[in-house]
Amino acid sequence: MIKTENDLVADFRGLVTRKFASSSLLVAACGAVIAIVMVGLCGIVLYQSRQDTLDHTRDTLRDIALIAERDIERNFELYDLSLQAVVDNVKDPEVMALSPRMRREVLFDRAASAKYLGSILVLDAKGNIVIDSGSDVPRQGNFADRKYFIVHRDNPNVGTYVSDPYESRLRSGSPSIALTRRISNPDGSFGGIVLLAVNLEYFHTLFAGLSLGPHGSLSLIGKNGVMVMRQPYDHKVIGRDIHNASTFRHFMAANEGSFEDTASIDGVRRLYWFSNFPNTPLIIMAAAAESDIYANWRRRALTIGSLMVVFGSVFIGLTSLLGIQLRRRMRAESELRLLARTDGLTGLNNRRSLGEILDTEWRRAKRTRSMVSLLFVDIDRFKSYNDTYGHQAGDDALAAVARCITDSIRRPADTAARYGGEEFIVVLPDTPAEGATEIAERIRNAISNCAIEHAGSEYGRVTASIGAVSCEPQRDDEVTAVIKAADEALYDAKASGRNKVSLSSRV
Ligand code: GH3
Ligand code: MG
Ligand code: MG
Repeated sequence: MIKTENDLVADFRGLVTRKFASSSLLVAACGAVIAIVMVGLCGIVLYQSRQDTLDHTRDTLRDIALIAERDIERNFELYDLSLQAVVDNVKDPEVMALSPRMRREVLFDRAASAKYLGSILVLDAKGNIVIDSGSDVPRQGNFADRKYFIVHRDNPNVGTYVSDPYESRLRSGSPSIALTRRISNPDGSFGGIVLLAVNLEYFHTLFAGLSLGPHGSLSLIGKNGVMVMRQPYDHKVIGRDIHNASTFRHFMAANEGSFEDTASIDGVRRLYWFSNFPNTPLIIMAAAAESDIYANWRRRALTIGSLMVVFGSVFIGLTSLLGIQLRRRMRAESELRLLARTDGLTGLNNRRSLGEILDTEWRRAKRTRSMVSLLFVDIDRFKSYNDTYGHQAGDDALAAVARCITDSIRRPADTAARYGGEEFIVVLPDTPAEGATEIAERIRNAISNCAIEHAGSEYGRVTASIGAVSCEPQRDDEVTAVIKAADEALYDAKASGRNKVSLSSRV
């Protein structure tokens, strides 16, 4: 059955949908790429701001560690000077000959009364207190069992020794560390030690004034791995040996540096800055918890990231919509273009389109010096058919004849058009007269073989007469004349009894 206007539109829609689907996909893909690039750039910026946050925190940790280190170093330097003065003076017989009160005044300057300082004691070679900064009559005590005493006794070259934290026996268990120096007799033998006790409260107060965030920590550790002070303060941590902890291994690798690790003491992951004291066997370590470092950044990243994802999704949605709209519009325009070129009843090219086809083919044939043939097809006694079978049947017969024509032309370049009423023109490029006559006969036979009953015809069925003309185009304006020649040949076919093919004598 011949295709109606609706069938044509449906067919064409399928074709156009495929053709324009790729354009709309391209628009949507471009949108997706732009959105992904935007989200990617945002990701890079966020990552960089995360790195900046880390660098900034590292600088802050270094500053805080430096403040604490300088304070401690300065105080320890003063303590050491006091110790050295005592060591020198106890060797002076004149000083030792003074009364206990005078001797105390000479040996222990005002530094001995500094805040956070415990007593300064002179111990003899057996570890007994012989001179006490706190009293003219030395308090009773023996410290021969203390590690600092043993170290000095067994090694004359220790210099100033900083002890591990201990609980003071003289000051009712108050946690302290001792700075000690050896007193050597003139013959080099061990003569005792001078001891200066520093209350750990000093470090506690110093650290408490330095803020490192809610989960930060600041630690002072002996180079042997014994914890001297830690902020946040926990008395159980003081004196703990952490030399096996993974964090401690970093301290031994360099003088100062930074690393990220999980603390063995509380299991919190932190960024650390550590520094080995240049003149004291201590290490300062400042650390900020990752959760604190990135808290603000995380909030910002979440807000910006979510907004970017939302905007990116909306952007992709909008470009997809734009792609769909673009496809619909292109399809509608193409459909309109096709409808404007198509005859609604037969689905063939209409007369306007025929004009364009003839123009193109004419110019091409002229350029290539090839033959063009035209067939003028006219249904025989069609007025009578309409009168007998009605206009609707006439329309159906017209559509059937159109299909006979399109089925009979096979080359892609061959085109059929409705010229008007019950007349059709077939354009056959590159076709000489013999070929044109053969195709005309094929069309005539096809229409006749359709066997559509036509009582008013001398053949009893619907037939058509065909006028054929073939020529080698010379000029652009000769198309009308060639159509006229085909029409004349058609007249001859009608005159010779209808259902005939007549070839125009014009060449
Ligand atoms: P001849 O064999 O000499 O060609 O006779 P004819 O009756 O076909 O010629 P004529 O030109 O007198 O009549 C053409 C008729 O074709 C007139 C009209 O009734 C019919 N016709 C033209 N266009 C249409 C159409 O779109 N639909 C229908 N149903 N009939 C049409
Ligand atoms: Mg006619
Ligand atoms: Mg006719």
